[in-house]
Amino acid sequence: MTTPRLEIRLDRLADNATTLIERLRSRGIAVCAVTKVALGSPEIAAALVAAGATSLGESRIRNVERLRRGGVDSPVMLVRAPLLSEIDRVVEFADLSCNTELVVLDRVAASARRQGRVHGIVLMVELGDLREGLMPGALHAVAQHVIDQPGLVLRGIGTNLACQNGVVPDGDNMGELSALADGIEQQCSVRLGIVSGGNSSNIAWALDPSSDIGRVNHLRLGESILLGTDPVGRSPIDGLHTDVFTVVAEVIESQVKPSQPWGSVSYTAFGDGVEPDASVHPMRRVIVALGQQDVDPTDLVPPPGYAILGASSDHLVLDVGDRYVPVGREIRFGVGYRALLRAMTSPDVERVICSATALVGIEGAPTPST
Ligand SMILES: *Cc1c(COP(=O)(O)O)cnc(C)c1O
Repeated sequence: MTTPRLEIRLDRLADNATTLIERLRSRGIAVCAVTKVALGSPEIAAALVAAGATSLGESRIRNVERLRRGGVDSPVMLVRAPLLSEIDRVVEFADLSCNTELVVLDRVAASARRQGRVHGIVLMVELGDLREGLMPGALHAVAQHVIDQPGLVLRGIGTNLACQNGVVPDGDNMGELSALADGIEQQCSVRLGIVSGGNSSNIAWALDPSSDIGRVNHLRLGESILLGTDPVGRSPIDGLHTDVFTVVAEVIESQVKPSQPWGSVSYTAFGDGVEPDASVHPMRRVIVALGQQDVDPTDLVPPPGYAILGASSDHLVLDVGDRYVPVGREIRFGVGYRALLRAMTSPDVERVICSATALVGIEGAPTPST
C-alpha cells in the first residue's frame, strides 16, 4: 500500500454514530450527520445513514453532488449558505439549505419554481458567535417572507456556535433559540419541524440531564461522530472511538544524531525559532515522509513513546526514544480535525477504507479500542 495514506475504519465510525444517535434520540434530538470533512464520501455517508442519521449535512455543493453520484438518496442539508453562482445546483441536489440572505432566498425560490421543486429552508439565527445568522429581531420578517414564497418551504430555524468566537452552547442561548421557534410559530401560524441547536459543540449541553432541551430537536454533527471528540473541551467523548481515522507514513531516514543543532541558528523552514538548550546528547532521529502538505503536523498524535520534533513541507522529524526504527517502517498517527481536513484534501494522501481486521499487528498501531 502507498504512503502517506489515511485509513478509515468504517466499523468504528458506525459505532460512534450509533452510540451518539441513540444517546441523542433519548433526548428527543435527531442527528444530521455532517460529512464535509470527508468531502461527501458516499461510503462514509452510507455508514452514517445506516447508523440512524436522519439526514446528511454538507457545506459545499460539489460534495453534495459527490454524494448523489455515489447513490446516496437521503435528505441532504447544505449547512453553508448557497452561493448565488450555484443556486440551480443547490436546488437540484440538496433538499434543504441554511440561509440568512433575502437575495439568496429569492433566487432559490425562483430556481425551485423553474425546476418544479420545493426547497426546504432553515433560517440561521445569530446567537453570539458572530458567524452566520440573522439577528434575532430580523428573524420573523424573513420567516414570513419564506412562507410567502412559492418554491420554498420553511422547515425550521437553527444556530451555529463555537466556530468563529468559541461561544459555548448553554441554557441561555439554547433557551433563546427555543423561544424564537415558539414566537415564529405563533406569529406566522406555522409549525417548525426543525429547531437545529448547532454542531458537535452542543453535545455536552444536549446530553447533560440537567439541561432543558426545550424545542431543540436537531443537531448537525461532524467532528463528534468522526473523531469521537467534543470540540468545546477538545476532549474524547465517553464511549466513542477516537481512532476512526489514522494517518500512516513511512520512515525515510533513521540516524543517531546530536539532540541540538549546531552552527549559527536563524529561522526554520516554517518560520519558527529554535529553542536553545544546553544539554546535547546523542539521540535517534527518524524522518517520516509526511509534511505540512499532507497534514497539519501540530494536530497529529504520534504513537506512545514517540515525539514530533518538527515538520516542514515534506519531512516530519520524530524522537523515537531508544527504539530502533528502520527505514521503510510504517508509523501510524492519530489526527485532530485540522490534520484530518488537510489529509482529506491533500492530493498526495491516499484514502483507504478498512475493514475491522485489516490493521491488526501493524507497528505503532493505536491500541485497538474494540
Ligand atoms: C461544520 C458545520 C457543522 C458540523 O460541525 P462539527 O463541529 O464538525 O460537528 C454544523 N453546522 C454548520 C453550520 C457547520 O458549518
